[in-house]
Amino acid sequence: MQELLNVSEALNRLLLRFTSVTNEVRPISEISGRVLAEDVVSGVDLPLYTNSSMDGFAVIASDVTGATADRPIALKIVTDIPAGSIPVIRIGSQESARIMTGALLPTGADSVVPVEFTNKKINIEGSAALGGHEVLVFRAVNKGDYVRQKGEDIRTGGTVLISGTRLRPQDIGLLAMLGISKVSVFRRPRVALFSTGDELVAIDKPLQTGKIHDSNAYTLAASIARDGGEAHYLGIIPDSEDAVQIALQRAAEAQVDLILSSAGVSVGAFDFVRAVVEKHGKLDFWRVNMRPGKPLAFGDFQGTPFIGLPGNPVSAFVGYEVFVRPALMKLSGLKSEERILLKAKLTEGIESDGRESYLRGVVTNQAGEWIASLTGHQGSGNLLSLVQANALLIIPSGVKSLPSRAEVQAWIIGAIPVGDLIV
Ligand code: AMP
Ligand code: MG
Repeated sequence: MQELLNVSEALNRLLLRFTSVTNEVRPISEISGRVLAEDVVSGVDLPLYTNSSMDGFAVIASDVTGATADRPIALKIVTDIPAGSIPVIRIGSQESARIMTGALLPTGADSVVPVEFTNKKINIEGSAALGGHEVLVFRAVNKGDYVRQKGEDIRTGGTVLISGTRLRPQDIGLLAMLGISKVSVFRRPRVALFSTGDELVAIDKPLQTGKIHDSNAYTLAASIARDGGEAHYLGIIPDSEDAVQIALQRAAEAQVDLILSSAGVSVGAFDFVRAVVEKHGKLDFWRVNMRPGKPLAFGDFQGTPFIGLPGNPVSAFVGYEVFVRPALMKLSGLKSEERILLKAKLTEGIESDGRESYLRGVVTNQAGEWIASLTGHQGSGNLLSLVQANALLIIPSGVKSLPSRAEVQAWIIGAIPVGDLIV
């Protein structure tokens, strides 16, 4: 019997087989969630020019020293500077310019008095109404107050985004601010996906007794899409050596980065997947010391990495999270860990069998403390307890029981109820 690998050993062995996919240049409107394949260096200073951070009056700070509501200081209004315009008048002593948020600071001025500190009203657009050629300033400002200096955020030549980063909305906004319309991103990893089992029936076909719908294909395709990959579903493959071999052949010819199957890797009389990979490809390992998900095969089929997940829906899900997702992350060129782990206290004692266990649970925050309880029936075929879970509670290998209040690592896989976050 082949040795039972522990999870971290198996994962390390598996990840050795993957390197990042090639990259492509895409417009920034199409890169949400993609992984950046180049460092981005700013070609400009941001802000691009020194500008006002408030609607108000551009002034020379020393002109309004000592201004109060009781003893306001009057300044002449010499011009009006809407956002987007270029001020032409220089501000001299005892002078001011009405200025809008984001408008260029005129020469001569060194600060802005917000309209709220003056006798001018804010009009319907939220900016100061001009009304009259004089403004009364009720409060002093310091040099530089309410002014955004050119380059205070980003300097020309500064690196602002690093290769290997998954692009978030704010990253894409920054690219737009810098005037960068296209960047190099890693292409989406391609995954060929098939399900095996004579009991499986497509979702749109009627079920007879003894048959079930193929649900793993849907869970796995959705997971692949969420993780930035492209799933190529090859359908339901019968439990026969020939059919499995043909499916693997088709998958390998599909120019994918990974072949992923579910079921048929255990010790059942009709489990052919492992045997076919062993015979016509290379099998690295097929058993991992984890629960659920022990029968998990990893190898190679004609030059393409292959992962055979167990058939039970929860086992397939956990196997995907533990092994396939990290492989996809590596293929994607991602350099950071995206998994969120919290330390949570158990509300009840739990039993395990000594394998590294991933139990379905709900994590909430109570009075500043993370609390974890199990959801429903933990059988590896029962999907509802996984649907109800927002965490996988990790029980380390070698641990057979944990008392109530013991601390566990909770791997967050779903939303934490909002009310629980307010502590
Ligand atoms: P196996 O790994 O082939 O022994 O399958 C283990 C269990 O998972 C059996 O109860 C199968 O019916 C079930 N199963 C296998 N494949 C799927 C699938 N694609 N969708 C849902 N259940 C499945
Ligand atoms: Mg089967």
